[in-house]
Amino acid sequence: MSTGDQTLRETPRILKGQKALVTGANSGIGKATAIGLGRAGADVVVNYVAGAQEAEAVVEEIKSHGVRAYAHEADVSREDQVVAMVDRMVEEFGTIDIMVANAGLQRDAAVTEMTVAQWQKVLDVNLTGQFLCAREATKEFLRRGVVPEVSRSAGKIVCMSSVHQIIPWAGHVNYASSKGGVLMMMQTLAQELAPQGIRVNAVAPGAIRTPINKDAWDTPEAEKALLQLIPYRRVGDPEDIANAVTVLASDLMDYVVGTTLYVDGGMTLFPGFATGG
Ligand code: NAD
Repeated sequence: MSTGDQTLRETPRILKGQKALVTGANSGIGKATAIGLGRAGADVVVNYVAGAQEAEAVVEEIKSHGVRAYAHEADVSREDQVVAMVDRMVEEFGTIDIMVANAGLQRDAAVTEMTVAQWQKVLDVNLTGQFLCAREATKEFLRRGVVPEVSRSAGKIVCMSSVHQIIPWAGHVNYASSKGGVLMMMQTLAQELAPQGIRVNAVAPGAIRTPINKDAWDTPEAEKALLQLIPYRRVGDPEDIANAVTVLASDLMDYVVGTTLYVDGGMTLFPGFATGG
């Protein structure tokens, strides 16, 4: 069991009675987050685009915590599919309280090799996908308003960003641009929606052990090099991010609006300057 996982098991049911949707929830950070939200008492929709079996396994694990869950296949970059996904959730669960826009991918290449298809795919999923999820959740938040027995706010949106919303990343211009876009989208939506009682925030992971960045940690040499970028000297676990999302989405963080919570072991502290500069 990882350290992060242990912390999570002690999480009280701070989301009891809330309904959450997590995109890209059959792998990595999304999977840990969906399970974490369920453990904290929320009913959870497990979105996936491919891998129905993995999604069903996540659903079963969430249900073991005594809450409701189901899997829903949808491509977050497709407007019609996101609309249908949130509509079904309102039908099945009655409403939505927490949208975790987590789905994301990389299509890496040097700029001279990067095709428009690679550029566009990453922007479509990582930025447009989050916009669509935020927009559809917001419509329901506004329709329903605040239900004080459930939460002080009318709804919470958590955007899964990255340290690369502020750290440039050579060879990944599509990805870094998408996450830079997520930062400004999140802040703008937070400003626009706060007067209506909706909290929009982001979590920005550093290096987390998931399939998306396997090359960076799956050999001892790669992990050693990676640790030079992490002052806290450990690669993060998906549960580290799940814990952050769970607390951020809860009323414990009710006064946190338009903020990025960096969960990165200090990666954004310019580690190169610890010994130089
Ligand atoms: P992952 O590859 O394990 O998970 C990504 C998930 O998104 C998968 O379930 C995938 O199927 C899903 N997805 C991809 N395209 C989709 C689409 N069109 N519609 C719906 N779902 C789709 O990787 P992860 O590390 O868990 O990544 C989750 C999020 O965390 C991403 O937004 C990623 O950018 C971000 N992130 C990860 C790290 C890290 O170190 N792992 C660091 C910073 C940010």
